[in-house]
Amino acid sequence: MTRPSEARIDLDALRHNAALLRERHGGRLLAVLKADAYGHGAAACARALQERCDGFAVAFLDEALALRAAGVRAPLLLLEGVFDAAELDAAAAQGLWIVVHHEAQLRLIESAALPPASLAVWLKMDSGMHRAGFAPEQVRAAHARLRACGAVASLTLMSHFARADEPDCDATPRQLQVFEEATAGLAGERSLCNSAGLLAWPQARRDWARAGIALYGADPIPGGGHGLRPVMTLQSRVFAERWLAPGEALGYGGLFVASAPTRVGLVAIGYADGYPRAAATGTPVAVDGRLTRTLGRVSMDMMTVDLTGLPDAGIGSRVELWGPQVDVNEVARRAGTIAYELLCNVKRVPRRYAEAAPA
Ligand SMILES: *Cc1c(COP(=O)(O)O)cnc(C)c1O
Repeated sequence: MTRPSEARIDLDALRHNAALLRERHGGRLLAVLKADAYGHGAAACARALQERCDGFAVAFLDEALALRAAGVRAPLLLLEGVFDAAELDAAAAQGLWIVVHHEAQLRLIESAALPPASLAVWLKMDSGMHRAGFAPEQVRAAHARLRACGAVASLTLMSHFARADEPDCDATPRQLQVFEEATAGLAGERSLCNSAGLLAWPQARRDWARAGIALYGADPIPGGGHGLRPVMTLQSRVFAERWLAPGEALGYGGLFVASAPTRVGLVAIGYADGYPRAAATGTPVAVDGRLTRTLGRVSMDMMTVDLTGLPDAGIGSRVELWGPQVDVNEVARRAGTIAYELLCNVKRVPRRYAEAAPA
């Protein structure tokens, strides 16, 4: 038997989520496939989503070139833009769309010798996140300079929300207002929403949404209830078991000490596979479809779960670390992080697609 650990990717769930998000947004949808589609496999996800969205977004050139090499011909936006003149040439040659968010990128375009009308540019404005983007008072000048570049075929105005996942916070409406004031009257389509913006802030929907985490079925809004289906199931099996007597300590650091006779299942997955070491005793897992908890420290290649209340479970039992039964958001919360980080950190385990999409 090979090691029974895998990340199952349900491409039907991915399509369901994309259709739901596009329907809710109303406008067009860019599916964000950066970081290998948040750990789900960018090429397979792109193929599965071809009919369900209007283009894709990745962080940088190499991610886009990998998708082009895999045969993806759809519009592809570089969310970080290009880093130098050679990248700009390559992006133009591949027909990539590029974000321009700071002065040096603007100068690259102004000084490039590119064919006329060969570039689709997304001009990014900082409306309050204060990370990347032109300041509100710079955006008109940047827009005018780009319009004066013969290579620029189209301009889309974009911004990004810092706190769209907090429905009771007024940061998002303030960002919206800053964006509206700074871009009033400027030509071009608009794009503001990430997943949380799309789901929680209907007034922010514009021509294009850029959805990542919600596509993969992790609801970015606490409490959720948006009808998203988890795409990844991280799973393994129990491959050994033992009883702990009261007073016996389990695993590295002896962090879990049995207070009553405890039946422990040893599971063939660990932090080297991307399960978070920071998840403490009590983090939910499902064994043969029944919810139980982790016990003690997660090790590099294995971890331990509580089988005491599950007399029918034992060697060979299927363990879901996250998926339809165990919300990845809850595992993330227990580990002091977010679902994004857990999903894109999955490694070493094989990915298996729930249909024969990937080559
Ligand atoms: C990653 C990213 C997104 C997608 O964000 P989600 O929260 O995963 O939907 C959208 N826009 C930009 C600029 C991004 O970098």
